Amino acid sequence: MNDLDSPRTSETDPTLLRKPRYWIKTFGCQMNVHDSEIYAGLLSGMGYEAAEQASDADLVLVNTCSVRERAEDKLFSQLGRLRQIKDVLSREGGRASKPRELMVGVTGCIAQQRGEEIIDRQPSVDFVIGTRAIHSLESVVGQVEAGLGPQVNIEDQVEFETPDAYRTDRVRAFVTIMEGCNNYCSFCIVPSTRGLEVYRSAAAIADEIRGLGLRGYREATLLGQNVNSWVDPDTGMDFPGLLAAIDDMLRATPSAQRVARVRFLTSHPKDLSPRLIEAMAEHRTVANHIHLPVQSGSDRILHQMNRHYTVDSYRRQVETLRRRVPEVGLSTDIIVGFPGETETDFECTLGLVRDVGYDAFYSFEYSPRPDTTALKYEDDVSPEVKRARLLELQGVGREVQQQHNASWLGRRAEVLVDSFSKRTVDDVSGRTSSNHIVNMPGGQSLIGRLVDVDITSYAAHSLYGRIVGDPR
Ligand code: SAM
Ligand code: SF4
Repeated sequence: MNDLDSPRTSETDPTLLRKPRYWIKTFGCQMNVHDSEIYAGLLSGMGYEAAEQASDADLVLVNTCSVRERAEDKLFSQLGRLRQIKDVLSREGGRASKPRELMVGVTGCIAQQRGEEIIDRQPSVDFVIGTRAIHSLESVVGQVEAGLGPQVNIEDQVEFETPDAYRTDRVRAFVTIMEGCNNYCSFCIVPSTRGLEVYRSAAAIADEIRGLGLRGYREATLLGQNVNSWVDPDTGMDFPGLLAAIDDMLRATPSAQRVARVRFLTSHPKDLSPRLIEAMAEHRTVANHIHLPVQSGSDRILHQMNRHYTVDSYRRQVETLRRRVPEVGLSTDIIVGFPGETETDFECTLGLVRDVGYDAFYSFEYSPRPDTTALKYEDDVSPEVKRARLLELQGVGREVQQQHNASWLGRRAEVLVDSFSKRTVDDVSGRTSSNHIVNMPGGQSLIGRLVDVDITSYAAHSLYGRIVGDPR
């Protein structure tokens, strides 16, 4: 009888005593990043610990995004690599160092959309969990472990109150305030993968933020696809009301026990009310930053995109924002090559980017997606033209960002230090309220502290400076 035939017990194989390990691969936006943190929290409650890499894990989750087609390609190549690891393990009959079989789960937007199809296409997948069924992880894993075969749960039952998320960042934390989106922009798959809007209560949101402060977090980002359409399901309070309530709660809490800043992401221009601008202007705890995706600088294209605002109304919103919140940081998303986009439409987009002068922006080539109304339009901008427009737009974006960064020279900014700099361990890095990245000389003791920084130089995506006065 060889080793593989003997029953393995913790006496014959001490590795059976170790905790099972998980590894999570996340694709997509901040909402997916936070969903992965929630999965990690659930797994740690189930007795798992984090693995360094997929090949050391007993359970791998691939948390997917389907906003662009390329994201789907990435999923299936990732699953191909996991299949190889799984095949090697099963050929070896499980490794001495690895007592359990590798279990593979697919979660997130593609999981919600494709469900069982994923298992048909890649049989090494053991389970699929949709965007609204995160809380079912433990029972799904239990069913796979019990030998019930591949499991699929894409039920439509949002559960916001899951056990604590497992966050790797110790300073800045995401807080979900809503799921889904009602907007049906003609290019966007999100309403069909994340469902219609469901809101978390103000009381639960405030509780989570209070708890984060007590655990040493200094910044919270309220997350949703369209946060400014949030409404309290219990009282009907609107989003500016929520910011006011959070501000009241924070100011009534001793400063050492509370988060110092609250951000929010993403805001739709059609729902940017004067009340929201006033809330940003009035409440010191609300960050001076707004991500306001414009998508295009052409009214004709905006109409086809079903965005419900015009370039002119958007420009007026930006003017009001800058008047009421003078140091506001403004970022955006832009799609190039939407069906029917002419050279003139594209020129209008370039003109808008130059005039508005964004601090940061994210640009994408249009990618036709299933279940979207834009599918009925011919995808008539060639891949070469899309690519050329993207590169030109990014060039203009860099110019605008450089000019903007140059305007910071000699100014003083309040920065929340959140990490070591990516370039050197002699520097730390943080963000201004307007969301600019600032690097400065300093060490570990500054992480999590607010500091005043005089800006002395800048690079393409960050500012550099030196601390003045004492950290807070
Ligand atoms: N909810 C946000 C909003 O209102 O703009 C955006 C969420 S979406 C996940 C992030 C960005 O992806 C969008 O702003 C858009 O620029 C881009 N996007 C969405 N669908 C796309 C598509 N089919 N092709 C290219 N880019 C797309
Ligand atoms: Fe997609 Fe539009 Fe909803 Fe944003 S607002 S998630 S772009 S449908």
